[in-house]
Amino acid sequence: MPYRLDAMPELPEVETVARDLRPLVSGATIAGVRCSWLRTLRSGDLDAFTAGVVGRTIRGTSRRAKLVVLDLDDGGAITIHLKMTGQLFVVPAADPDDPYVRLAIAFDDGRELRFRDIRKFGRVGLARRDGPGGELRGELGGPRTFRGFGPEPLDGSFGPRAFRARLLARRGRLKPTLMDQGFLAGVGNIYADEALWTARLHPLRTAGTLRPGDAGRLFRAVRGILAEAVERRGSSVDDYTAPEGDGSMQERLLVYQRAGQPCPRCGCPIRRIVVGGRATHFCSWCQRLPAADRAAAAAILRAMTPRPGGAHGGATARRGPRWTELEGDGALGRTRDEAHAAGERARLRVERSRHAAAIRRAAARGRSEAT
Ligand SMILES: [Zn+2]
Repeated sequence: MPYRLDAMPELPEVETVARDLRPLVSGATIAGVRCSWLRTLRSGDLDAFTAGVVGRTIRGTSRRAKLVVLDLDDGGAITIHLKMTGQLFVVPAADPDDPYVRLAIAFDDGRELRFRDIRKFGRVGLARRDGPGGELRGELGGPRTFRGFGPEPLDGSFGPRAFRARLLARRGRLKPTLMDQGFLAGVGNIYADEALWTARLHPLRTAGTLRPGDAGRLFRAVRGILAEAVERRGSSVDDYTAPEGDGSMQERLLVYQRAGQPCPRCGCPIRRIVVGGRATHFCSWCQRLPAADRAAAAAILRAMTPRPGGAHGGATARRGPRWTELEGDGALGRTRDEAHAAGERARLRVERSRHAAAIRRAAARGRSEAT
């Protein structure tokens, strides 16, 4: 069993699933739908979904944000959100089902596309496209505040200038902003942490205060990590698997789930805090927080960092050694020990300069008395 990350599939993993499915389902005509867990359907209406897809031929597959999209010949599009444990595979219809298959789309050639989802968070919807290659409309779902996806970070027409303009319009912190699908499509916990580390930006930095240089570095970091991850077929994450097998990007991750290990850039320990309910990994030494953000960030940390024995302590302890909890101390910069050592050095410097000044004064007095 390869090393697997506790995480959800993000852009690279979903892109890999969409690409793997393409040769398997393109050209297939849908003959029927089976559903054993109605909430897997966004509409909750099996008859409506079936009426919308039966008789349609799948033209191809694509990805939008974290959705796998099956494009139909009538402009419709089946959208599949894998969430935590969703898997898609194509098998002969005669193959035995397992109890975790929530939905199966039967093709007229005797095969089925099965959606297996242990934890039942995955969702399948039926949307429509605004013309060929256009934006998806309709049943996409997501949080109740959903107002549409932000730009695709790997889209060639999206550049650093547009990225900074979007950042400047934001008041939140960098990490949750990057993960907001309305801000940027497809970025989740793993690649947000990696990109922020690469760009040397603290996850609790205010998004709207980034200077052009910072925003440019972050843009290049986001795009770089996602492009590399797509090339490597994504990371192996819990219960996720692509139809043609897992990716290898987890071997290239430098901070995600590496709390306590030395930062590859400076050697200080990687810290882990919880931001917006999500584990966040970073180096507080080379991802400094500007003074203006410290008070607000400290308040967020006090509210959100689970302490051993606290409300979340038991849950994280069960995750095993990979989830070794570090105290929030030092998350904003130096730890108390590091600060103490630095303070000592500063105190000695002051003492030495006072001593030197006293000597100078004494020497000056000596000179004036001699004249
Ligand atoms: Zn570092």
